[in-house]
Amino acid sequence: MSAFPPAIAVANDTSPVRTKAQRLLPQRLHRFRTLGMGLASFPLAAVFSELGSSWIAWAWMLLICFVWPQLAYVVARRSADPYLAERRNLIVDSAIAGACLPIMHFNLLPSAVLISVTTADKVNSGVRRLWLYSLPGMFMAPILVGALIGFRFDLHSSTFVIACSLPLMIIHVLAVSMNSNRLVRRMQMQNLKLETLSRIDSMTGLLGRSHWESQAESILARSNTAQPGVLMILDIDQFKEINDRFGHATGDDVLCAIADVVRDNLPDGSHAGRWGGDEFVIVMSLDADRAHAVAERIRNAVAALHFPATGDLRCTLSIGLAEAPAGTIDLRSWLELADGALYRAKHGGRNQAVRV
Ligand code: GH3
Ligand code: MG
Repeated sequence: MSAFPPAIAVANDTSPVRTKAQRLLPQRLHRFRTLGMGLASFPLAAVFSELGSSWIAWAWMLLICFVWPQLAYVVARRSADPYLAERRNLIVDSAIAGACLPIMHFNLLPSAVLISVTTADKVNSGVRRLWLYSLPGMFMAPILVGALIGFRFDLHSSTFVIACSLPLMIIHVLAVSMNSNRLVRRMQMQNLKLETLSRIDSMTGLLGRSHWESQAESILARSNTAQPGVLMILDIDQFKEINDRFGHATGDDVLCAIADVVRDNLPDGSHAGRWGGDEFVIVMSLDADRAHAVAERIRNAVAALHFPATGDLRCTLSIGLAEAPAGTIDLRSWLELADGALYRAKHGGRNQAVRV
């Protein structure tokens, strides 16, 4: 049984579902393991030469520093679940580092560097709490190897050993930092994309609700000082009937065509968004007369729309306009005012723009 929390599993399916990043974990860590283990050969060789260690210690060094990184990669790639196999490899890394300590007679600096570098690799892997799961192996390995070959303590690190430990410390830290930097930059780009997506209504390309609301709030704040502000709500007349008669796909075409008309007639500094359903909102820094003229232009352009594929399909808009009232009011009250005007437009016979 795995010591890890269970992977995401699809109902009634025993095989775990892995994200692309999880599937690519062996490739990502292969470079780090090759680099880290390769650099670890310097302090190990320095200590072994000072201690006059046996050929077994040297063979162990060659095995873990040069053979193990490639072996771990091949095993993970060939595994049915490369992600799980790579997590096991990471735990083996820690046990290997721990096993080196008694062989080095616990030489202080290289021991500390090996332990901290392998633990940093666990954190860098992005696998939750992996460093914690690696601790038992890291502590058990020196005890077992020490019991096998005997415990000898020679903590002093000579200048030669310190110098041989530096490449691992410096190059590994820089490599890990560069990798983190790359990941942070990628995350920032993805956040930017997500923000752009959340700002735009995917069907019409007009602003999404949260974005037009914040634009309306800033126009409302300015209208209480110097600039005028008008908010209008545009609602398609009898849109349900259009859907019922011509189908929802045609209804969608109508929504997009109206959005195009709104975009084409939008004055500079104004913002248009979709409120959901068949309602649109425009906020403008214009006085009521000019805003009303814009509303009429849009209304006439929509009434003149033709949809060649659907013969006699015509659509019209009812529009409610409200000036930003003097004094501080919130956006909700401003929307309610415009909604009241829209209600009058509907009850006045539709296909008209009414202002309050
Ligand atoms: P009124 O003149 O009073 O506004 O009548 P209406 O039929 O336009 O009003 P109602 O609110 O009853 O209908 C709005 C319809 O808009 C109902 C819903 O099915 C449709 N609708 C909402 N969102 C979409 C959409 O994204 N695509 C399509 N095709 N239809 C939508
Ligand atoms: Mg409607």
